[in-house]
Amino acid sequence: MTVPLVQRLPTARGRLRADAVLAKTSWFRVGGPAEVLFSPADVDDLTGFLAALDPGIPVTVVGRASNVLIRDGGVPGVVIRLGRAFAGARVNGAVVEAGAATASADVARAAQAAGIAGFGFLEGIPGSVGGALRMNAGCHGKEVRHIVVAARAVDRSGCVHDLRATDLGLEYRRCAVPADWVFVSAQFAGAAGDPAVIAACMRQFRDQRERTQPVRVATGGSTFRNPPNQKAWVLIERAGCRGLRRNGASVSEKHANFLVNDGTASAADLEALGEDVRHRVQTETGILLEWEIHRIGRPLGGPHP
Ligand SMILES: Cc1cc2nc3c(=O)[nH]c(=O)nc-3n(C[C@H](O)[C@H](O)[C@H](O)COP(=O)(O)OP(=O)(O)OC[C@H]3O[C@@H](n4cnc5c(N)ncnc54)[C@H](O)[C@@H]3O)c2cc1C
Repeated sequence: MTVPLVQRLPTARGRLRADAVLAKTSWFRVGGPAEVLFSPADVDDLTGFLAALDPGIPVTVVGRASNVLIRDGGVPGVVIRLGRAFAGARVNGAVVEAGAATASADVARAAQAAGIAGFGFLEGIPGSVGGALRMNAGCHGKEVRHIVVAARAVDRSGCVHDLRATDLGLEYRRCAVPADWVFVSAQFAGAAGDPAVIAACMRQFRDQRERTQPVRVATGGSTFRNPPNQKAWVLIERAGCRGLRRNGASVSEKHANFLVNDGTASAADLEALGEDVRHRVQTETGILLEWEIHRIGRPLGGPHP
C-alpha cells in the first residue's frame, strides 16, 4: 500500500493539509484538490521545509488564483500558498515593502494613503504581490516592472535569494525567475504625489474597468496574451467567438478575452472552450493565440506523476 504523500513530507510549523480544496478560493471556482497544501508559518519554515523535501516531489505555487486554471483532477505534489504571515504592506519614504501574500490592491491603497504615485494600476488587479511579480501584472499603461525595486525569493532547495529588479527579467506578463521559486516579499518605489489626485486617478481606473470587463463573475482575467501589435480580444471577436459556449463556460459578452464560468462549468469545459477559441482564431486570422492563464494540475482521471 502506498503511504500518502502528506505522511512522507518533512515536518513544518505551518499547515500541511492533504486533499485540500482549491476551487473555492480560485477565481474560476473550478479544479480538483491539492494533493498536499502547505501554508508555511514564516520564511524559515518555508526554507527548512523545501531544503528537506525530496527533490522528486513536484512543487506548485499559487497566490490568489486569479490567473490560474486548476484542472479537475487536482494538483499533484505540494501546493504552496502563502498565508497571513506573508501579508502586509509597510511604507518607508517612497518605498512600499510588502509580503508576497499581500493583495495587490492593498499595496496600491497603502501607497495612495502615503502620497506615493505610480501604484494606482495595482488596485484593480485581483491577485497577490507574488502573483503580480510572476505575471509582471499591469494595466492602464503601467506594469509591475515600472515600480518594483527588489524581491526576495526562496528556491526549490530552500535557499533565499535577494533579487534586484533587473534580476527578475520582467517582460510583458513574464518573469525569468524559475517557476518553482517562491516570492516571499518585494519592495516597490514611486514618486511623491498628492493623495487626493492619486485617489481620483484610482477611481477613474475603477470606473473604466467596471465599464469594460466582467468584474463580478467567475473568471481568470485575460485568457490569452496579446500577440505583438495585436489585441487578443479583437482577434477573438473577428473569429466570431464572443458569447461562444461550452456547457457552463462561455466567452464573455463584455470582453472577448475573458472566459466565464456560469457556476456549472468544469475546468475541462473552460480549457476546451479556450482551445476552441484558439483554433477558430487561427483559422480566421492565421494567428495562434498563446495562453496567458497558467493551467495547472491534471485532468480528471489523468495519470499520477
Ligand atoms: C477579474 C480579473 C481581472 C484581472 N485584471 C488583470 C489586469 O488588469 N492586469 C493583469 O496583469 N492581470 C489581471 N488579472 C490576472 C491576475 O489577477 C494577475 O495576473 C495577478 O497578478 C495574479 O496574482 P495571483 O496572486 O492571483 O496569482 P495566481 O493566479 O495564484 O498565480 C499566477 C502565477 O503566479 C505564480 N505565483 C503566485 N504567487 C506566487 C509566489 N508567491 N511566488 C512565486 N510565484 C507565484 C503562480 O505559480 C502562477 O504561475 C485579472 C484577473 C481577474 C480574475
